[in-house]
Amino acid sequence: MSELTLERGLAALRAEIDAPTAAFFSSCVHCGLCAQACPFYLETGDPKYTPILKLEPLRRVWENEFTLWGRIKGLLGLQKKVTDEMLAEWEELVYDSCSLCGRCSVVCPVGNDLYAMIRKTREGMVQSGHAPEGLISASVRAITTGSPMGLQWKTLAVQIQHVESSSGLTVPVDREGAEYLVLLSSMEIINFPEYLEAITKIFDHAGISWTLSTQCFEATNAGIQIGNKDIAAELVERVVAAAETLRVSKVISPECGHAYTAIRWEGPNLIGRPYPFRVFHIIEVLDELRAAGRIKTEGKEDDRLSLHDPCNLARKSGVIQQQRNLMALVAENFVDLKEHGKYQWCCGAGGGVSSNERAEELKMAAFKRKKAQIEEVAPERMVTMCATCRTQLEEGLEAFNMEIPVVGLTEMIAEHLVERD
Ligand code: SF4
Ligand code: SF4
Repeated sequence: MSELTLERGLAALRAEIDAPTAAFFSSCVHCGLCAQACPFYLETGDPKYTPILKLEPLRRVWENEFTLWGRIKGLLGLQKKVTDEMLAEWEELVYDSCSLCGRCSVVCPVGNDLYAMIRKTREGMVQSGHAPEGLISASVRAITTGSPMGLQWKTLAVQIQHVESSSGLTVPVDREGAEYLVLLSSMEIINFPEYLEAITKIFDHAGISWTLSTQCFEATNAGIQIGNKDIAAELVERVVAAAETLRVSKVISPECGHAYTAIRWEGPNLIGRPYPFRVFHIIEVLDELRAAGRIKTEGKEDDRLSLHDPCNLARKSGVIQQQRNLMALVAENFVDLKEHGKYQWCCGAGGGVSSNERAEELKMAAFKRKKAQIEEVAPERMVTMCATCRTQLEEGLEAFNMEIPVVGLTEMIAEHLVERD
């Protein structure tokens, strides 16, 4: 790869400036509402974490090069240029203090999509050599090994053997013509192996034809997190190639929020063509099976349960009611967090923050908002449907000495399936 320089970074920022970007900067009324929506700003109280400020490198390039006023300022020698020092300083603002949760975007009174602009700004940061080490190595591993954590198929093969011996079922692999291709995330494979066993049991119970692919099993898209469209497109192409090889009609994204938005919403634009298959989050599939009467459960959890909505699923994709329908199937004593669904608070770990070791302190600071929400309703257990959120909830609750276990929704459904005769 050729050298990453300020000039490359500026060229990338320039390339990101389009009509929505120009409309964004022209219409911002500096009301500060986005700040009140951001857990990183609110929980640190530090004005430098104000969402709109995170866009300053992109805003400067827009003003300096795309506006008449900017050009006049240039002639008068009054332009504030984007320098390498500035980008080095902004690295923390653009990556460490933003989980790409999109809460700022939904509260902006003039409809500015701050989350999308931060993604654009990351494109320039990467090209100028100002991306966090943790995200760079995750991206390199994703391209070279297929997984941001460097997992190979042999690790998954061992897990498949465990699932098969404990469930007595077969995990289908490379089954051509199956209806669904199931993708996993590395975080799930490492931290929550029970997820694979849960879907194996549920799909067997519901009579679903599905398969894993040895060609591509990973749904995580490190290119989206670091902010590099070429890497993101390459990772999407691998999923598409695997789905095409196996001729599936549907692809299931795992319990991982950003993987779902990457493959479902951003993927076709990244690769420049529509998919020959449809994409669903596992929770959407389970809710469809529930509605069709193909999931039969027995018994209910009787302890007080609450739910954390992953930002990518609820706020960005509108998957809100499905998880509540599934909870109703297996939980007797469910209580929603006060702000939930579209306006729920981020756990603090998404958007690559959890892969960026340097951001650990900020990640835990942002979690305090979620902690306060959980304290308000005092559940005995939390349920969620994103491996990154689940890891952050577990780590955060432990850090604050709150003894509240966290469970995955898919796994909870599997535990209540009616046994076959
Ligand atoms: S909420 Fe919207 S209009 Fe208000 S400061 Fe933020 S970006 Fe500007
Ligand atoms: S996307 Fe979320 S974390 Fe990032 S600036 Fe907006 S509110 Fe803050």
